[in-house]
Amino acid sequence: MTTDLHCHTTASDGTLSPTQLVEAAQHKGLDGIGVTDHDTVEGLREATAAGASMGIAIVPGIELSTKHEGRSVHILGFFVDANVAGLREALDGLRLERLDRARRMVGRLNELGYTITMDDVTAQARGAIIARPHVARALVAKGLVETLVDAFSPALIGDGGRAEVPRTVMSPAEGLDLIRRAGAAPVLAHPGVAHHAGATDPVPEALIADLAGRGLVGLEVDHPEHSEEIRERLRSIGERLGLLSTGGSDYHGPGGRPLGTCTTGADVIDELRRRAG
Ligand code: ZN
Ligand code: FE
Ligand code: FE
Repeated sequence: MTTDLHCHTTASDGTLSPTQLVEAAQHKGLDGIGVTDHDTVEGLREATAAGASMGIAIVPGIELSTKHEGRSVHILGFFVDANVAGLREALDGLRLERLDRARRMVGRLNELGYTITMDDVTAQARGAIIARPHVARALVAKGLVETLVDAFSPALIGDGGRAEVPRTVMSPAEGLDLIRRAGAAPVLAHPGVAHHAGATDPVPEALIADLAGRGLVGLEVDHPEHSEEIRERLRSIGERLGLLSTGGSDYHGPGGRPLGTCTTGADVIDELRRRAG
């Protein structure tokens, strides 16, 4: 049984629809995939239906964005129950917050003389949750800046930039609680990746230990951007704290990190299911 436990779809920032993702998994010869879109469960129903018809086991999941002392920390939740009371409301709140943030950034950009509208931003999101990268892509699409790097500069919408509006993001402990309340098993995503989504160093061991005390059940040890050395280190931290080791490719679609390079065994998946809820 080979399962790639970390995949994104068009429900967030992936480029394949849930059905196309399941097809890609079938092409790869995978037995299953975890569908873990950023801050949403909207892709799960379609993925589950496609998985059932194509014989691919779907682990329903989510990847929540949280922040710890300025460092972005992503938490995966496996076997999430999308229908649990309060989950969609909480996620809708996050969506509205991001939308409001995008609107305010567009307003500031307009003040600075960059003529983009919310329609330009929405067009970039193509139905996904509107977030800062879509504002950046809209700036490029309109020819107002040359590259995404220019858009993310301090002059514009980079962190602390002139047109940037900071996000109020939940803490890892709050994210972990939300995942637990949704009946899911929380696993720290790519804890060893230093440069991911605003991070500048690996997740500190003290935070991992703190979260383990709050119900964290695993670490994503096998991730394409973890070196062999980092995997060893995470495995030993996990063993010390009684955490499971998972693996996933953090797949976002063709052209990015390939599907199926990091996987999770059936025994670990059974254990995740047992520790969920
Ligand atoms: Zn992503
Ligand atoms: Fe992530
Ligand atoms: Fe991811």
